[in-house]
Amino acid sequence: MLKTYAKCNSCCREYRCIVARDFRQCVYCRKESAEIIRSEEENKPLLTIELQDESSVPKVIYKGEEIKLKQEVEFHWETDTEEYGGLSYAIEHAVEGKIHPTRNRIERRVKGHALI
Ligand SMILES: [Zn+2]
Repeated sequence: MLKTYAKCNSCCREYRCIVARDFRQCVYCRKESAEIIRSEEENKPLLTIELQDESSVPKVIYKGEEIKLKQEVEFHWETDTEEYGGLSYAIEHAVEGKIHPTRNRIERRVKGHALI
């Protein structure tokens, strides 16, 4: 999702636009002298794995979407120096199909792990 900010040329305040009207009408003074100053991608994490306790099912959010019907979750990050050396993660989950369910695997191997 894109976050858009505008600045009012009348009262000089900056604000985040929520509705289309905010692009031109200042949310503070209501004068129609606002203009868009910047837009930026909302800073969402790539991957979030939440584990409530040791017996719970992990909650996995990948690229902003929760992965349902999980069957396997792997996460491996390592280093032997101050810099990170490698990253692998895999999420296997079932997908409800029209006729049969299928299994989908999201897998990434980065840096040192990509070369093994
Ligand atoms: Zn204003």
